[in-house]
Amino acid sequence: MVAEWPLWRLPRGLVWYVCGVVATSVAAAVTVGMLTSLRGRDLALFALLVTFGAGAVELTRRTTVPAGFMKDVHGIWQLPIALLLPPFYSLVAPIAAGCMLQLRTRHTVAHRRVFSAAANGLSLAAASAAFHAVLPVLQRQWPAARSPLWLLVAVACTLLWSAVDKSLIIAAVKGSDRTVSVRGHLFTREPLLNDACEISAGVLLAGTVAGVGVVLLLPALPLVILLQRSFRQAQLISQARIDTKTGLLNAAAWRTEVTVQLAAAQRTRSPVAVAIADLDHFKAVNDGYGHLTGDAVLAAAAATLREGLRPYDLIGRFGGEEFTILLPHTGADEAVAVADRLRASLASYPFPAGEDRDPLHVTVSIGVAATLDPAGQDLTDLLTAADAALYAAKTGGRNTVRLDGETGPAREPASR
Ligand code: GH3
Ligand code: MG
Ligand code: MG
Repeated sequence: MVAEWPLWRLPRGLVWYVCGVVATSVAAAVTVGMLTSLRGRDLALFALLVTFGAGAVELTRRTTVPAGFMKDVHGIWQLPIALLLPPFYSLVAPIAAGCMLQLRTRHTVAHRRVFSAAANGLSLAAASAAFHAVLPVLQRQWPAARSPLWLLVAVACTLLWSAVDKSLIIAAVKGSDRTVSVRGHLFTREPLLNDACEISAGVLLAGTVAGVGVVLLLPALPLVILLQRSFRQAQLISQARIDTKTGLLNAAAWRTEVTVQLAAAQRTRSPVAVAIADLDHFKAVNDGYGHLTGDAVLAAAAATLREGLRPYDLIGRFGGEEFTILLPHTGADEAVAVADRLRASLASYPFPAGEDRDPLHVTVSIGVAATLDPAGQDLTDLLTAADAALYAAKTGGRNTVRLDGETGPAREPASR
């Protein structure tokens, strides 16, 4: 078993390096552990912080990425361990985080987890030892400035932690792949801001537990920036999903959401239908009324289609004047009925055509494909079938609904 470990497939120098860091960490933990007298209060605080760290991993496990560089924020829970407890606790704290990550999130090769935990333990312990050695000396020297000194030394020591940890990790990453851009992953604006926030939150937490007081307003500031940015990010993500002209999902977002829905339909073996709606002679609207009116008609048509659907149907703008619709839990007959309702509501809608002009009427042709067995067809099959039906609807006279595979005449519109 041991002989098959992926560790041995690494370059020889790297194997020595990884084993060296892990051995140093274990030796340090054993030595420091023997010199540390365990106190109930320390153990309780340690258990509490480790539990909260584990809770944070559990709560955010769905947001972690499958592989590659991943910014974790365990420092928020580990820095208080370094600053409030003897260095021994720093050496063992990352073991818990590593186990949680391995078991509950990305399962990765064990030696990587062990190495990360060892490197992090050593760097945390260095910060912890420095903090406990320097702070009392400075506070004795300037007793009036106890709190600002606490903050100053805490920040300096957490920077030390970050520097040592990163150096140990970078050496390993470079040892396994020289082409990786460490600078891009660690030293650009985004990761640096994340680091600043992680350190701020860790220091804030430690300072709160230690009762440091009002100087902790300072490390609260970077968190405000982070919070503000996270709102903006959420907004950007939503903007990237939405087609601005119609307010519907854009083609990529529609596809993503539909893929999820289709998987659910496959699990529950429930029928689904897909429809493609294409506005008829839309070029003539642009030619006759101008592109601005064309845009307004497009937006109003999108809204009309959206309103005619059930809340759980998914409609997106496929491109141009074409819309794609997923109808979950819907068989062929019902899908055709829904599509025909949409067709009729659009045909009777008076689109404003600008001042002094009569409202304009626009019709739509819809191709429908339905499947009773979603396991048998994927989205591309359904779209291809719906597209063929749409073509039949166009050639069959427009302002009509056609079901894939239907050979009879196009469904004649009631309001024609
Ligand atoms: P058909 O009934 O065969 O679908 O005829 P059509 O004129 O609708 O189809 P065609 O594919 O020939 O032309 C599509 C038109 O849709 C041409 C293009 O100018 C217009 N169009 C596509 N996207 C937009 C848009 O975002 N805004 C406006 N105003 N027009 C658009
Ligand atoms: Mg078209
Ligand atoms: Mg068209």
